[in-house]
Amino acid sequence: MSLQCPRCHSLKVASFHHAMKIGAAIGTLGGAARGACAALAGSQAGALVAAITGPRGVTLGAVSGAILGGLVGGAGGCALGAQLGDKLDRHVLAHNLCLICGHRFNLPA
Ligand SMILES: [Zn+2]
Repeated sequence: MSLQCPRCHSLKVASFHHAMKIGAAIGTLGGAARGACAALAGSQAGALVAAITGPRGVTLGAVSGAILGGLVGGAGGCALGAQLGDKLDRHVLAHNLCLICGHRFNLPA
């Protein structure tokens, strides 16, 4: 893929992908938060199981719920955030910089 400056038609254009990284970071945080919620739900489910199986189930349910929830939530959030950031990157933020005339522009839609 070769980018061309719309102003001076130079092919010396630098691309930035800040939004994608920011989006991934936000997504990871959001996913971790969601994972924490899932972990809480997991511990509650664990407590419910413990009511039937005995005190050992409480720890087991809470721990496995927390680990699973954190992993799944974090990974899913990161992928979602990267996608969101990529869309922002492509359509909202001017992230191409012409090295000849200094003009900033978006990718053509
Ligand atoms: Zn230019």
